[in-house]
Amino acid sequence: MSRLVQIRSSLRPDGKHEPIVPADVSGRFTRARRVVFFVLIWIYAALPWVHIGGHPAVFLDLETRHFYLFGGIFDARDVWMMTFLLTGLVFTLLVVTALLGRAWCGWACPQTVFVDGVYRRIERLFQGSREVHRRRDAGPWTASRILRKIGTHAGYAIVSLLLANVAISYFVSLPRLFQMMQRSPAEHAEAFGVMAVFAGLLYFDLGWFREQFCVVMCPYGRLQSVLLDQDSLVIGYDEKRGEPRGKLHAEGAGDCVDCNRCVAVCPTGIDIRNGLQLDCIACTACVDACDEIMDRTKRPRGLVRYDSQRGLGGGKTRLLRPRLALYALLLAAGGGAAAFAFSRHADIEAVLTRLPGAPFSVDGDQVQNSFELLVTNKRSHAMPLRVEGEAPAGAQFILPQGSVTLAPLEQMHRPLFVRVPRGATGTAAEVRLRVLDDHGSVVARATAPFLSPPPVAP
Ligand code: SF4
Ligand code: SF4
Repeated sequence: MSRLVQIRSSLRPDGKHEPIVPADVSGRFTRARRVVFFVLIWIYAALPWVHIGGHPAVFLDLETRHFYLFGGIFDARDVWMMTFLLTGLVFTLLVVTALLGRAWCGWACPQTVFVDGVYRRIERLFQGSREVHRRRDAGPWTASRILRKIGTHAGYAIVSLLLANVAISYFVSLPRLFQMMQRSPAEHAEAFGVMAVFAGLLYFDLGWFREQFCVVMCPYGRLQSVLLDQDSLVIGYDEKRGEPRGKLHAEGAGDCVDCNRCVAVCPTGIDIRNGLQLDCIACTACVDACDEIMDRTKRPRGLVRYDSQRGLGGGKTRLLRPRLALYALLLAAGGGAAAFAFSRHADIEAVLTRLPGAPFSVDGDQVQNSFELLVTNKRSHAMPLRVEGEAPAGAQFILPQGSVTLAPLEQMHRPLFVRVPRGATGTAAEVRLRVLDDHGSVVARATAPFLSPPPVAP
């Protein structure tokens, strides 16, 4: 099993946080990550604008309590499906982590995407390079320092407000959001309060807390030591090749010239040469930084690289291994269950529930059961629907207004009385209804037991 050590690099011995200013870095992974961040940020901002089937691609409508997901419409009765979705995500994360280590943290986690892709760039714009920034911060409070701090924090605040409004647009429709923006906050104090608190949290977390969130708070980060094994892909330092570290051309020295570039660029402030660490978010900055040094010193790249711990130790990485097979099996089982659950999700839903009171009533030779029929149209267009009784055979179905056109997301509640001649059914009969569209196709069914008194003894 892998061993992760924790070296709290951004915490001073007195427990205070030491703000980290990573040095600039360029290289193939840095460029690739910028492209990924750009795409992910655009997806995040664009999803409420993209409409599928007349509704935003991802939208949790708090007013009507409906959830729109890529053309599907879900309501409170579909919450059970979230179990499958969440377990599917957990199993996916297990497999991805066992295979690719903390790839999620370095490439796709919103914390990393927004800190590295937006907030650090604002900081770089106003404060300059690491050297200039640190030198200025160590000096007196000059006008330039004050103005640059104001510029940086104003930038953070504006972006935090923008991101918070984008987040709100996942819960409040865009026309309504624009309407709210043009009015006084007092007219929608609740929504404004939520937005302001969220913007404040973003400002605090992405502008200041940053890597501490990954190190101290993120539960996924804490699970790394049990999820990773010797064959998981990690970012590591090739100790055999690099040690003993020393000056370029020093006799007996390894390939590491001890330039500290890998430490200077690290956003969590750790030294990758100390081994695999909990604080490493696999951001690849040290890989690009060291490759640049290897290029300059005319040595092969990859002293710091993506590899497994077994590979870094000189062994051969095994792709197929029991742990991965187990995770893959769990993922397949979870995926199968999720696919089954989603395939059962109906966009026209019919539910038959027994009305409170006596389970049946006897009127002469007729036994009557009373129900409430609920039909929901979860399609994005109006649906003309007709309800027909199928069973028990010979039953009389008394349903006021059996044909109706339901608007999108409209529900129909109707009392339904089913009458059957006494003795015509056993005690375990079933009421079956079908809902048909205007083409006569069955779009939903509903069933409920039909209860009768015990047969009269001869
Ligand atoms: S960047 Fe490479 S050469 Fe420089 S200290 Fe780090 S591992 Fe050694
Ligand atoms: S050690 Fe390297 S990969 Fe890990 S967080 Fe620091 S710079 Fe990123």
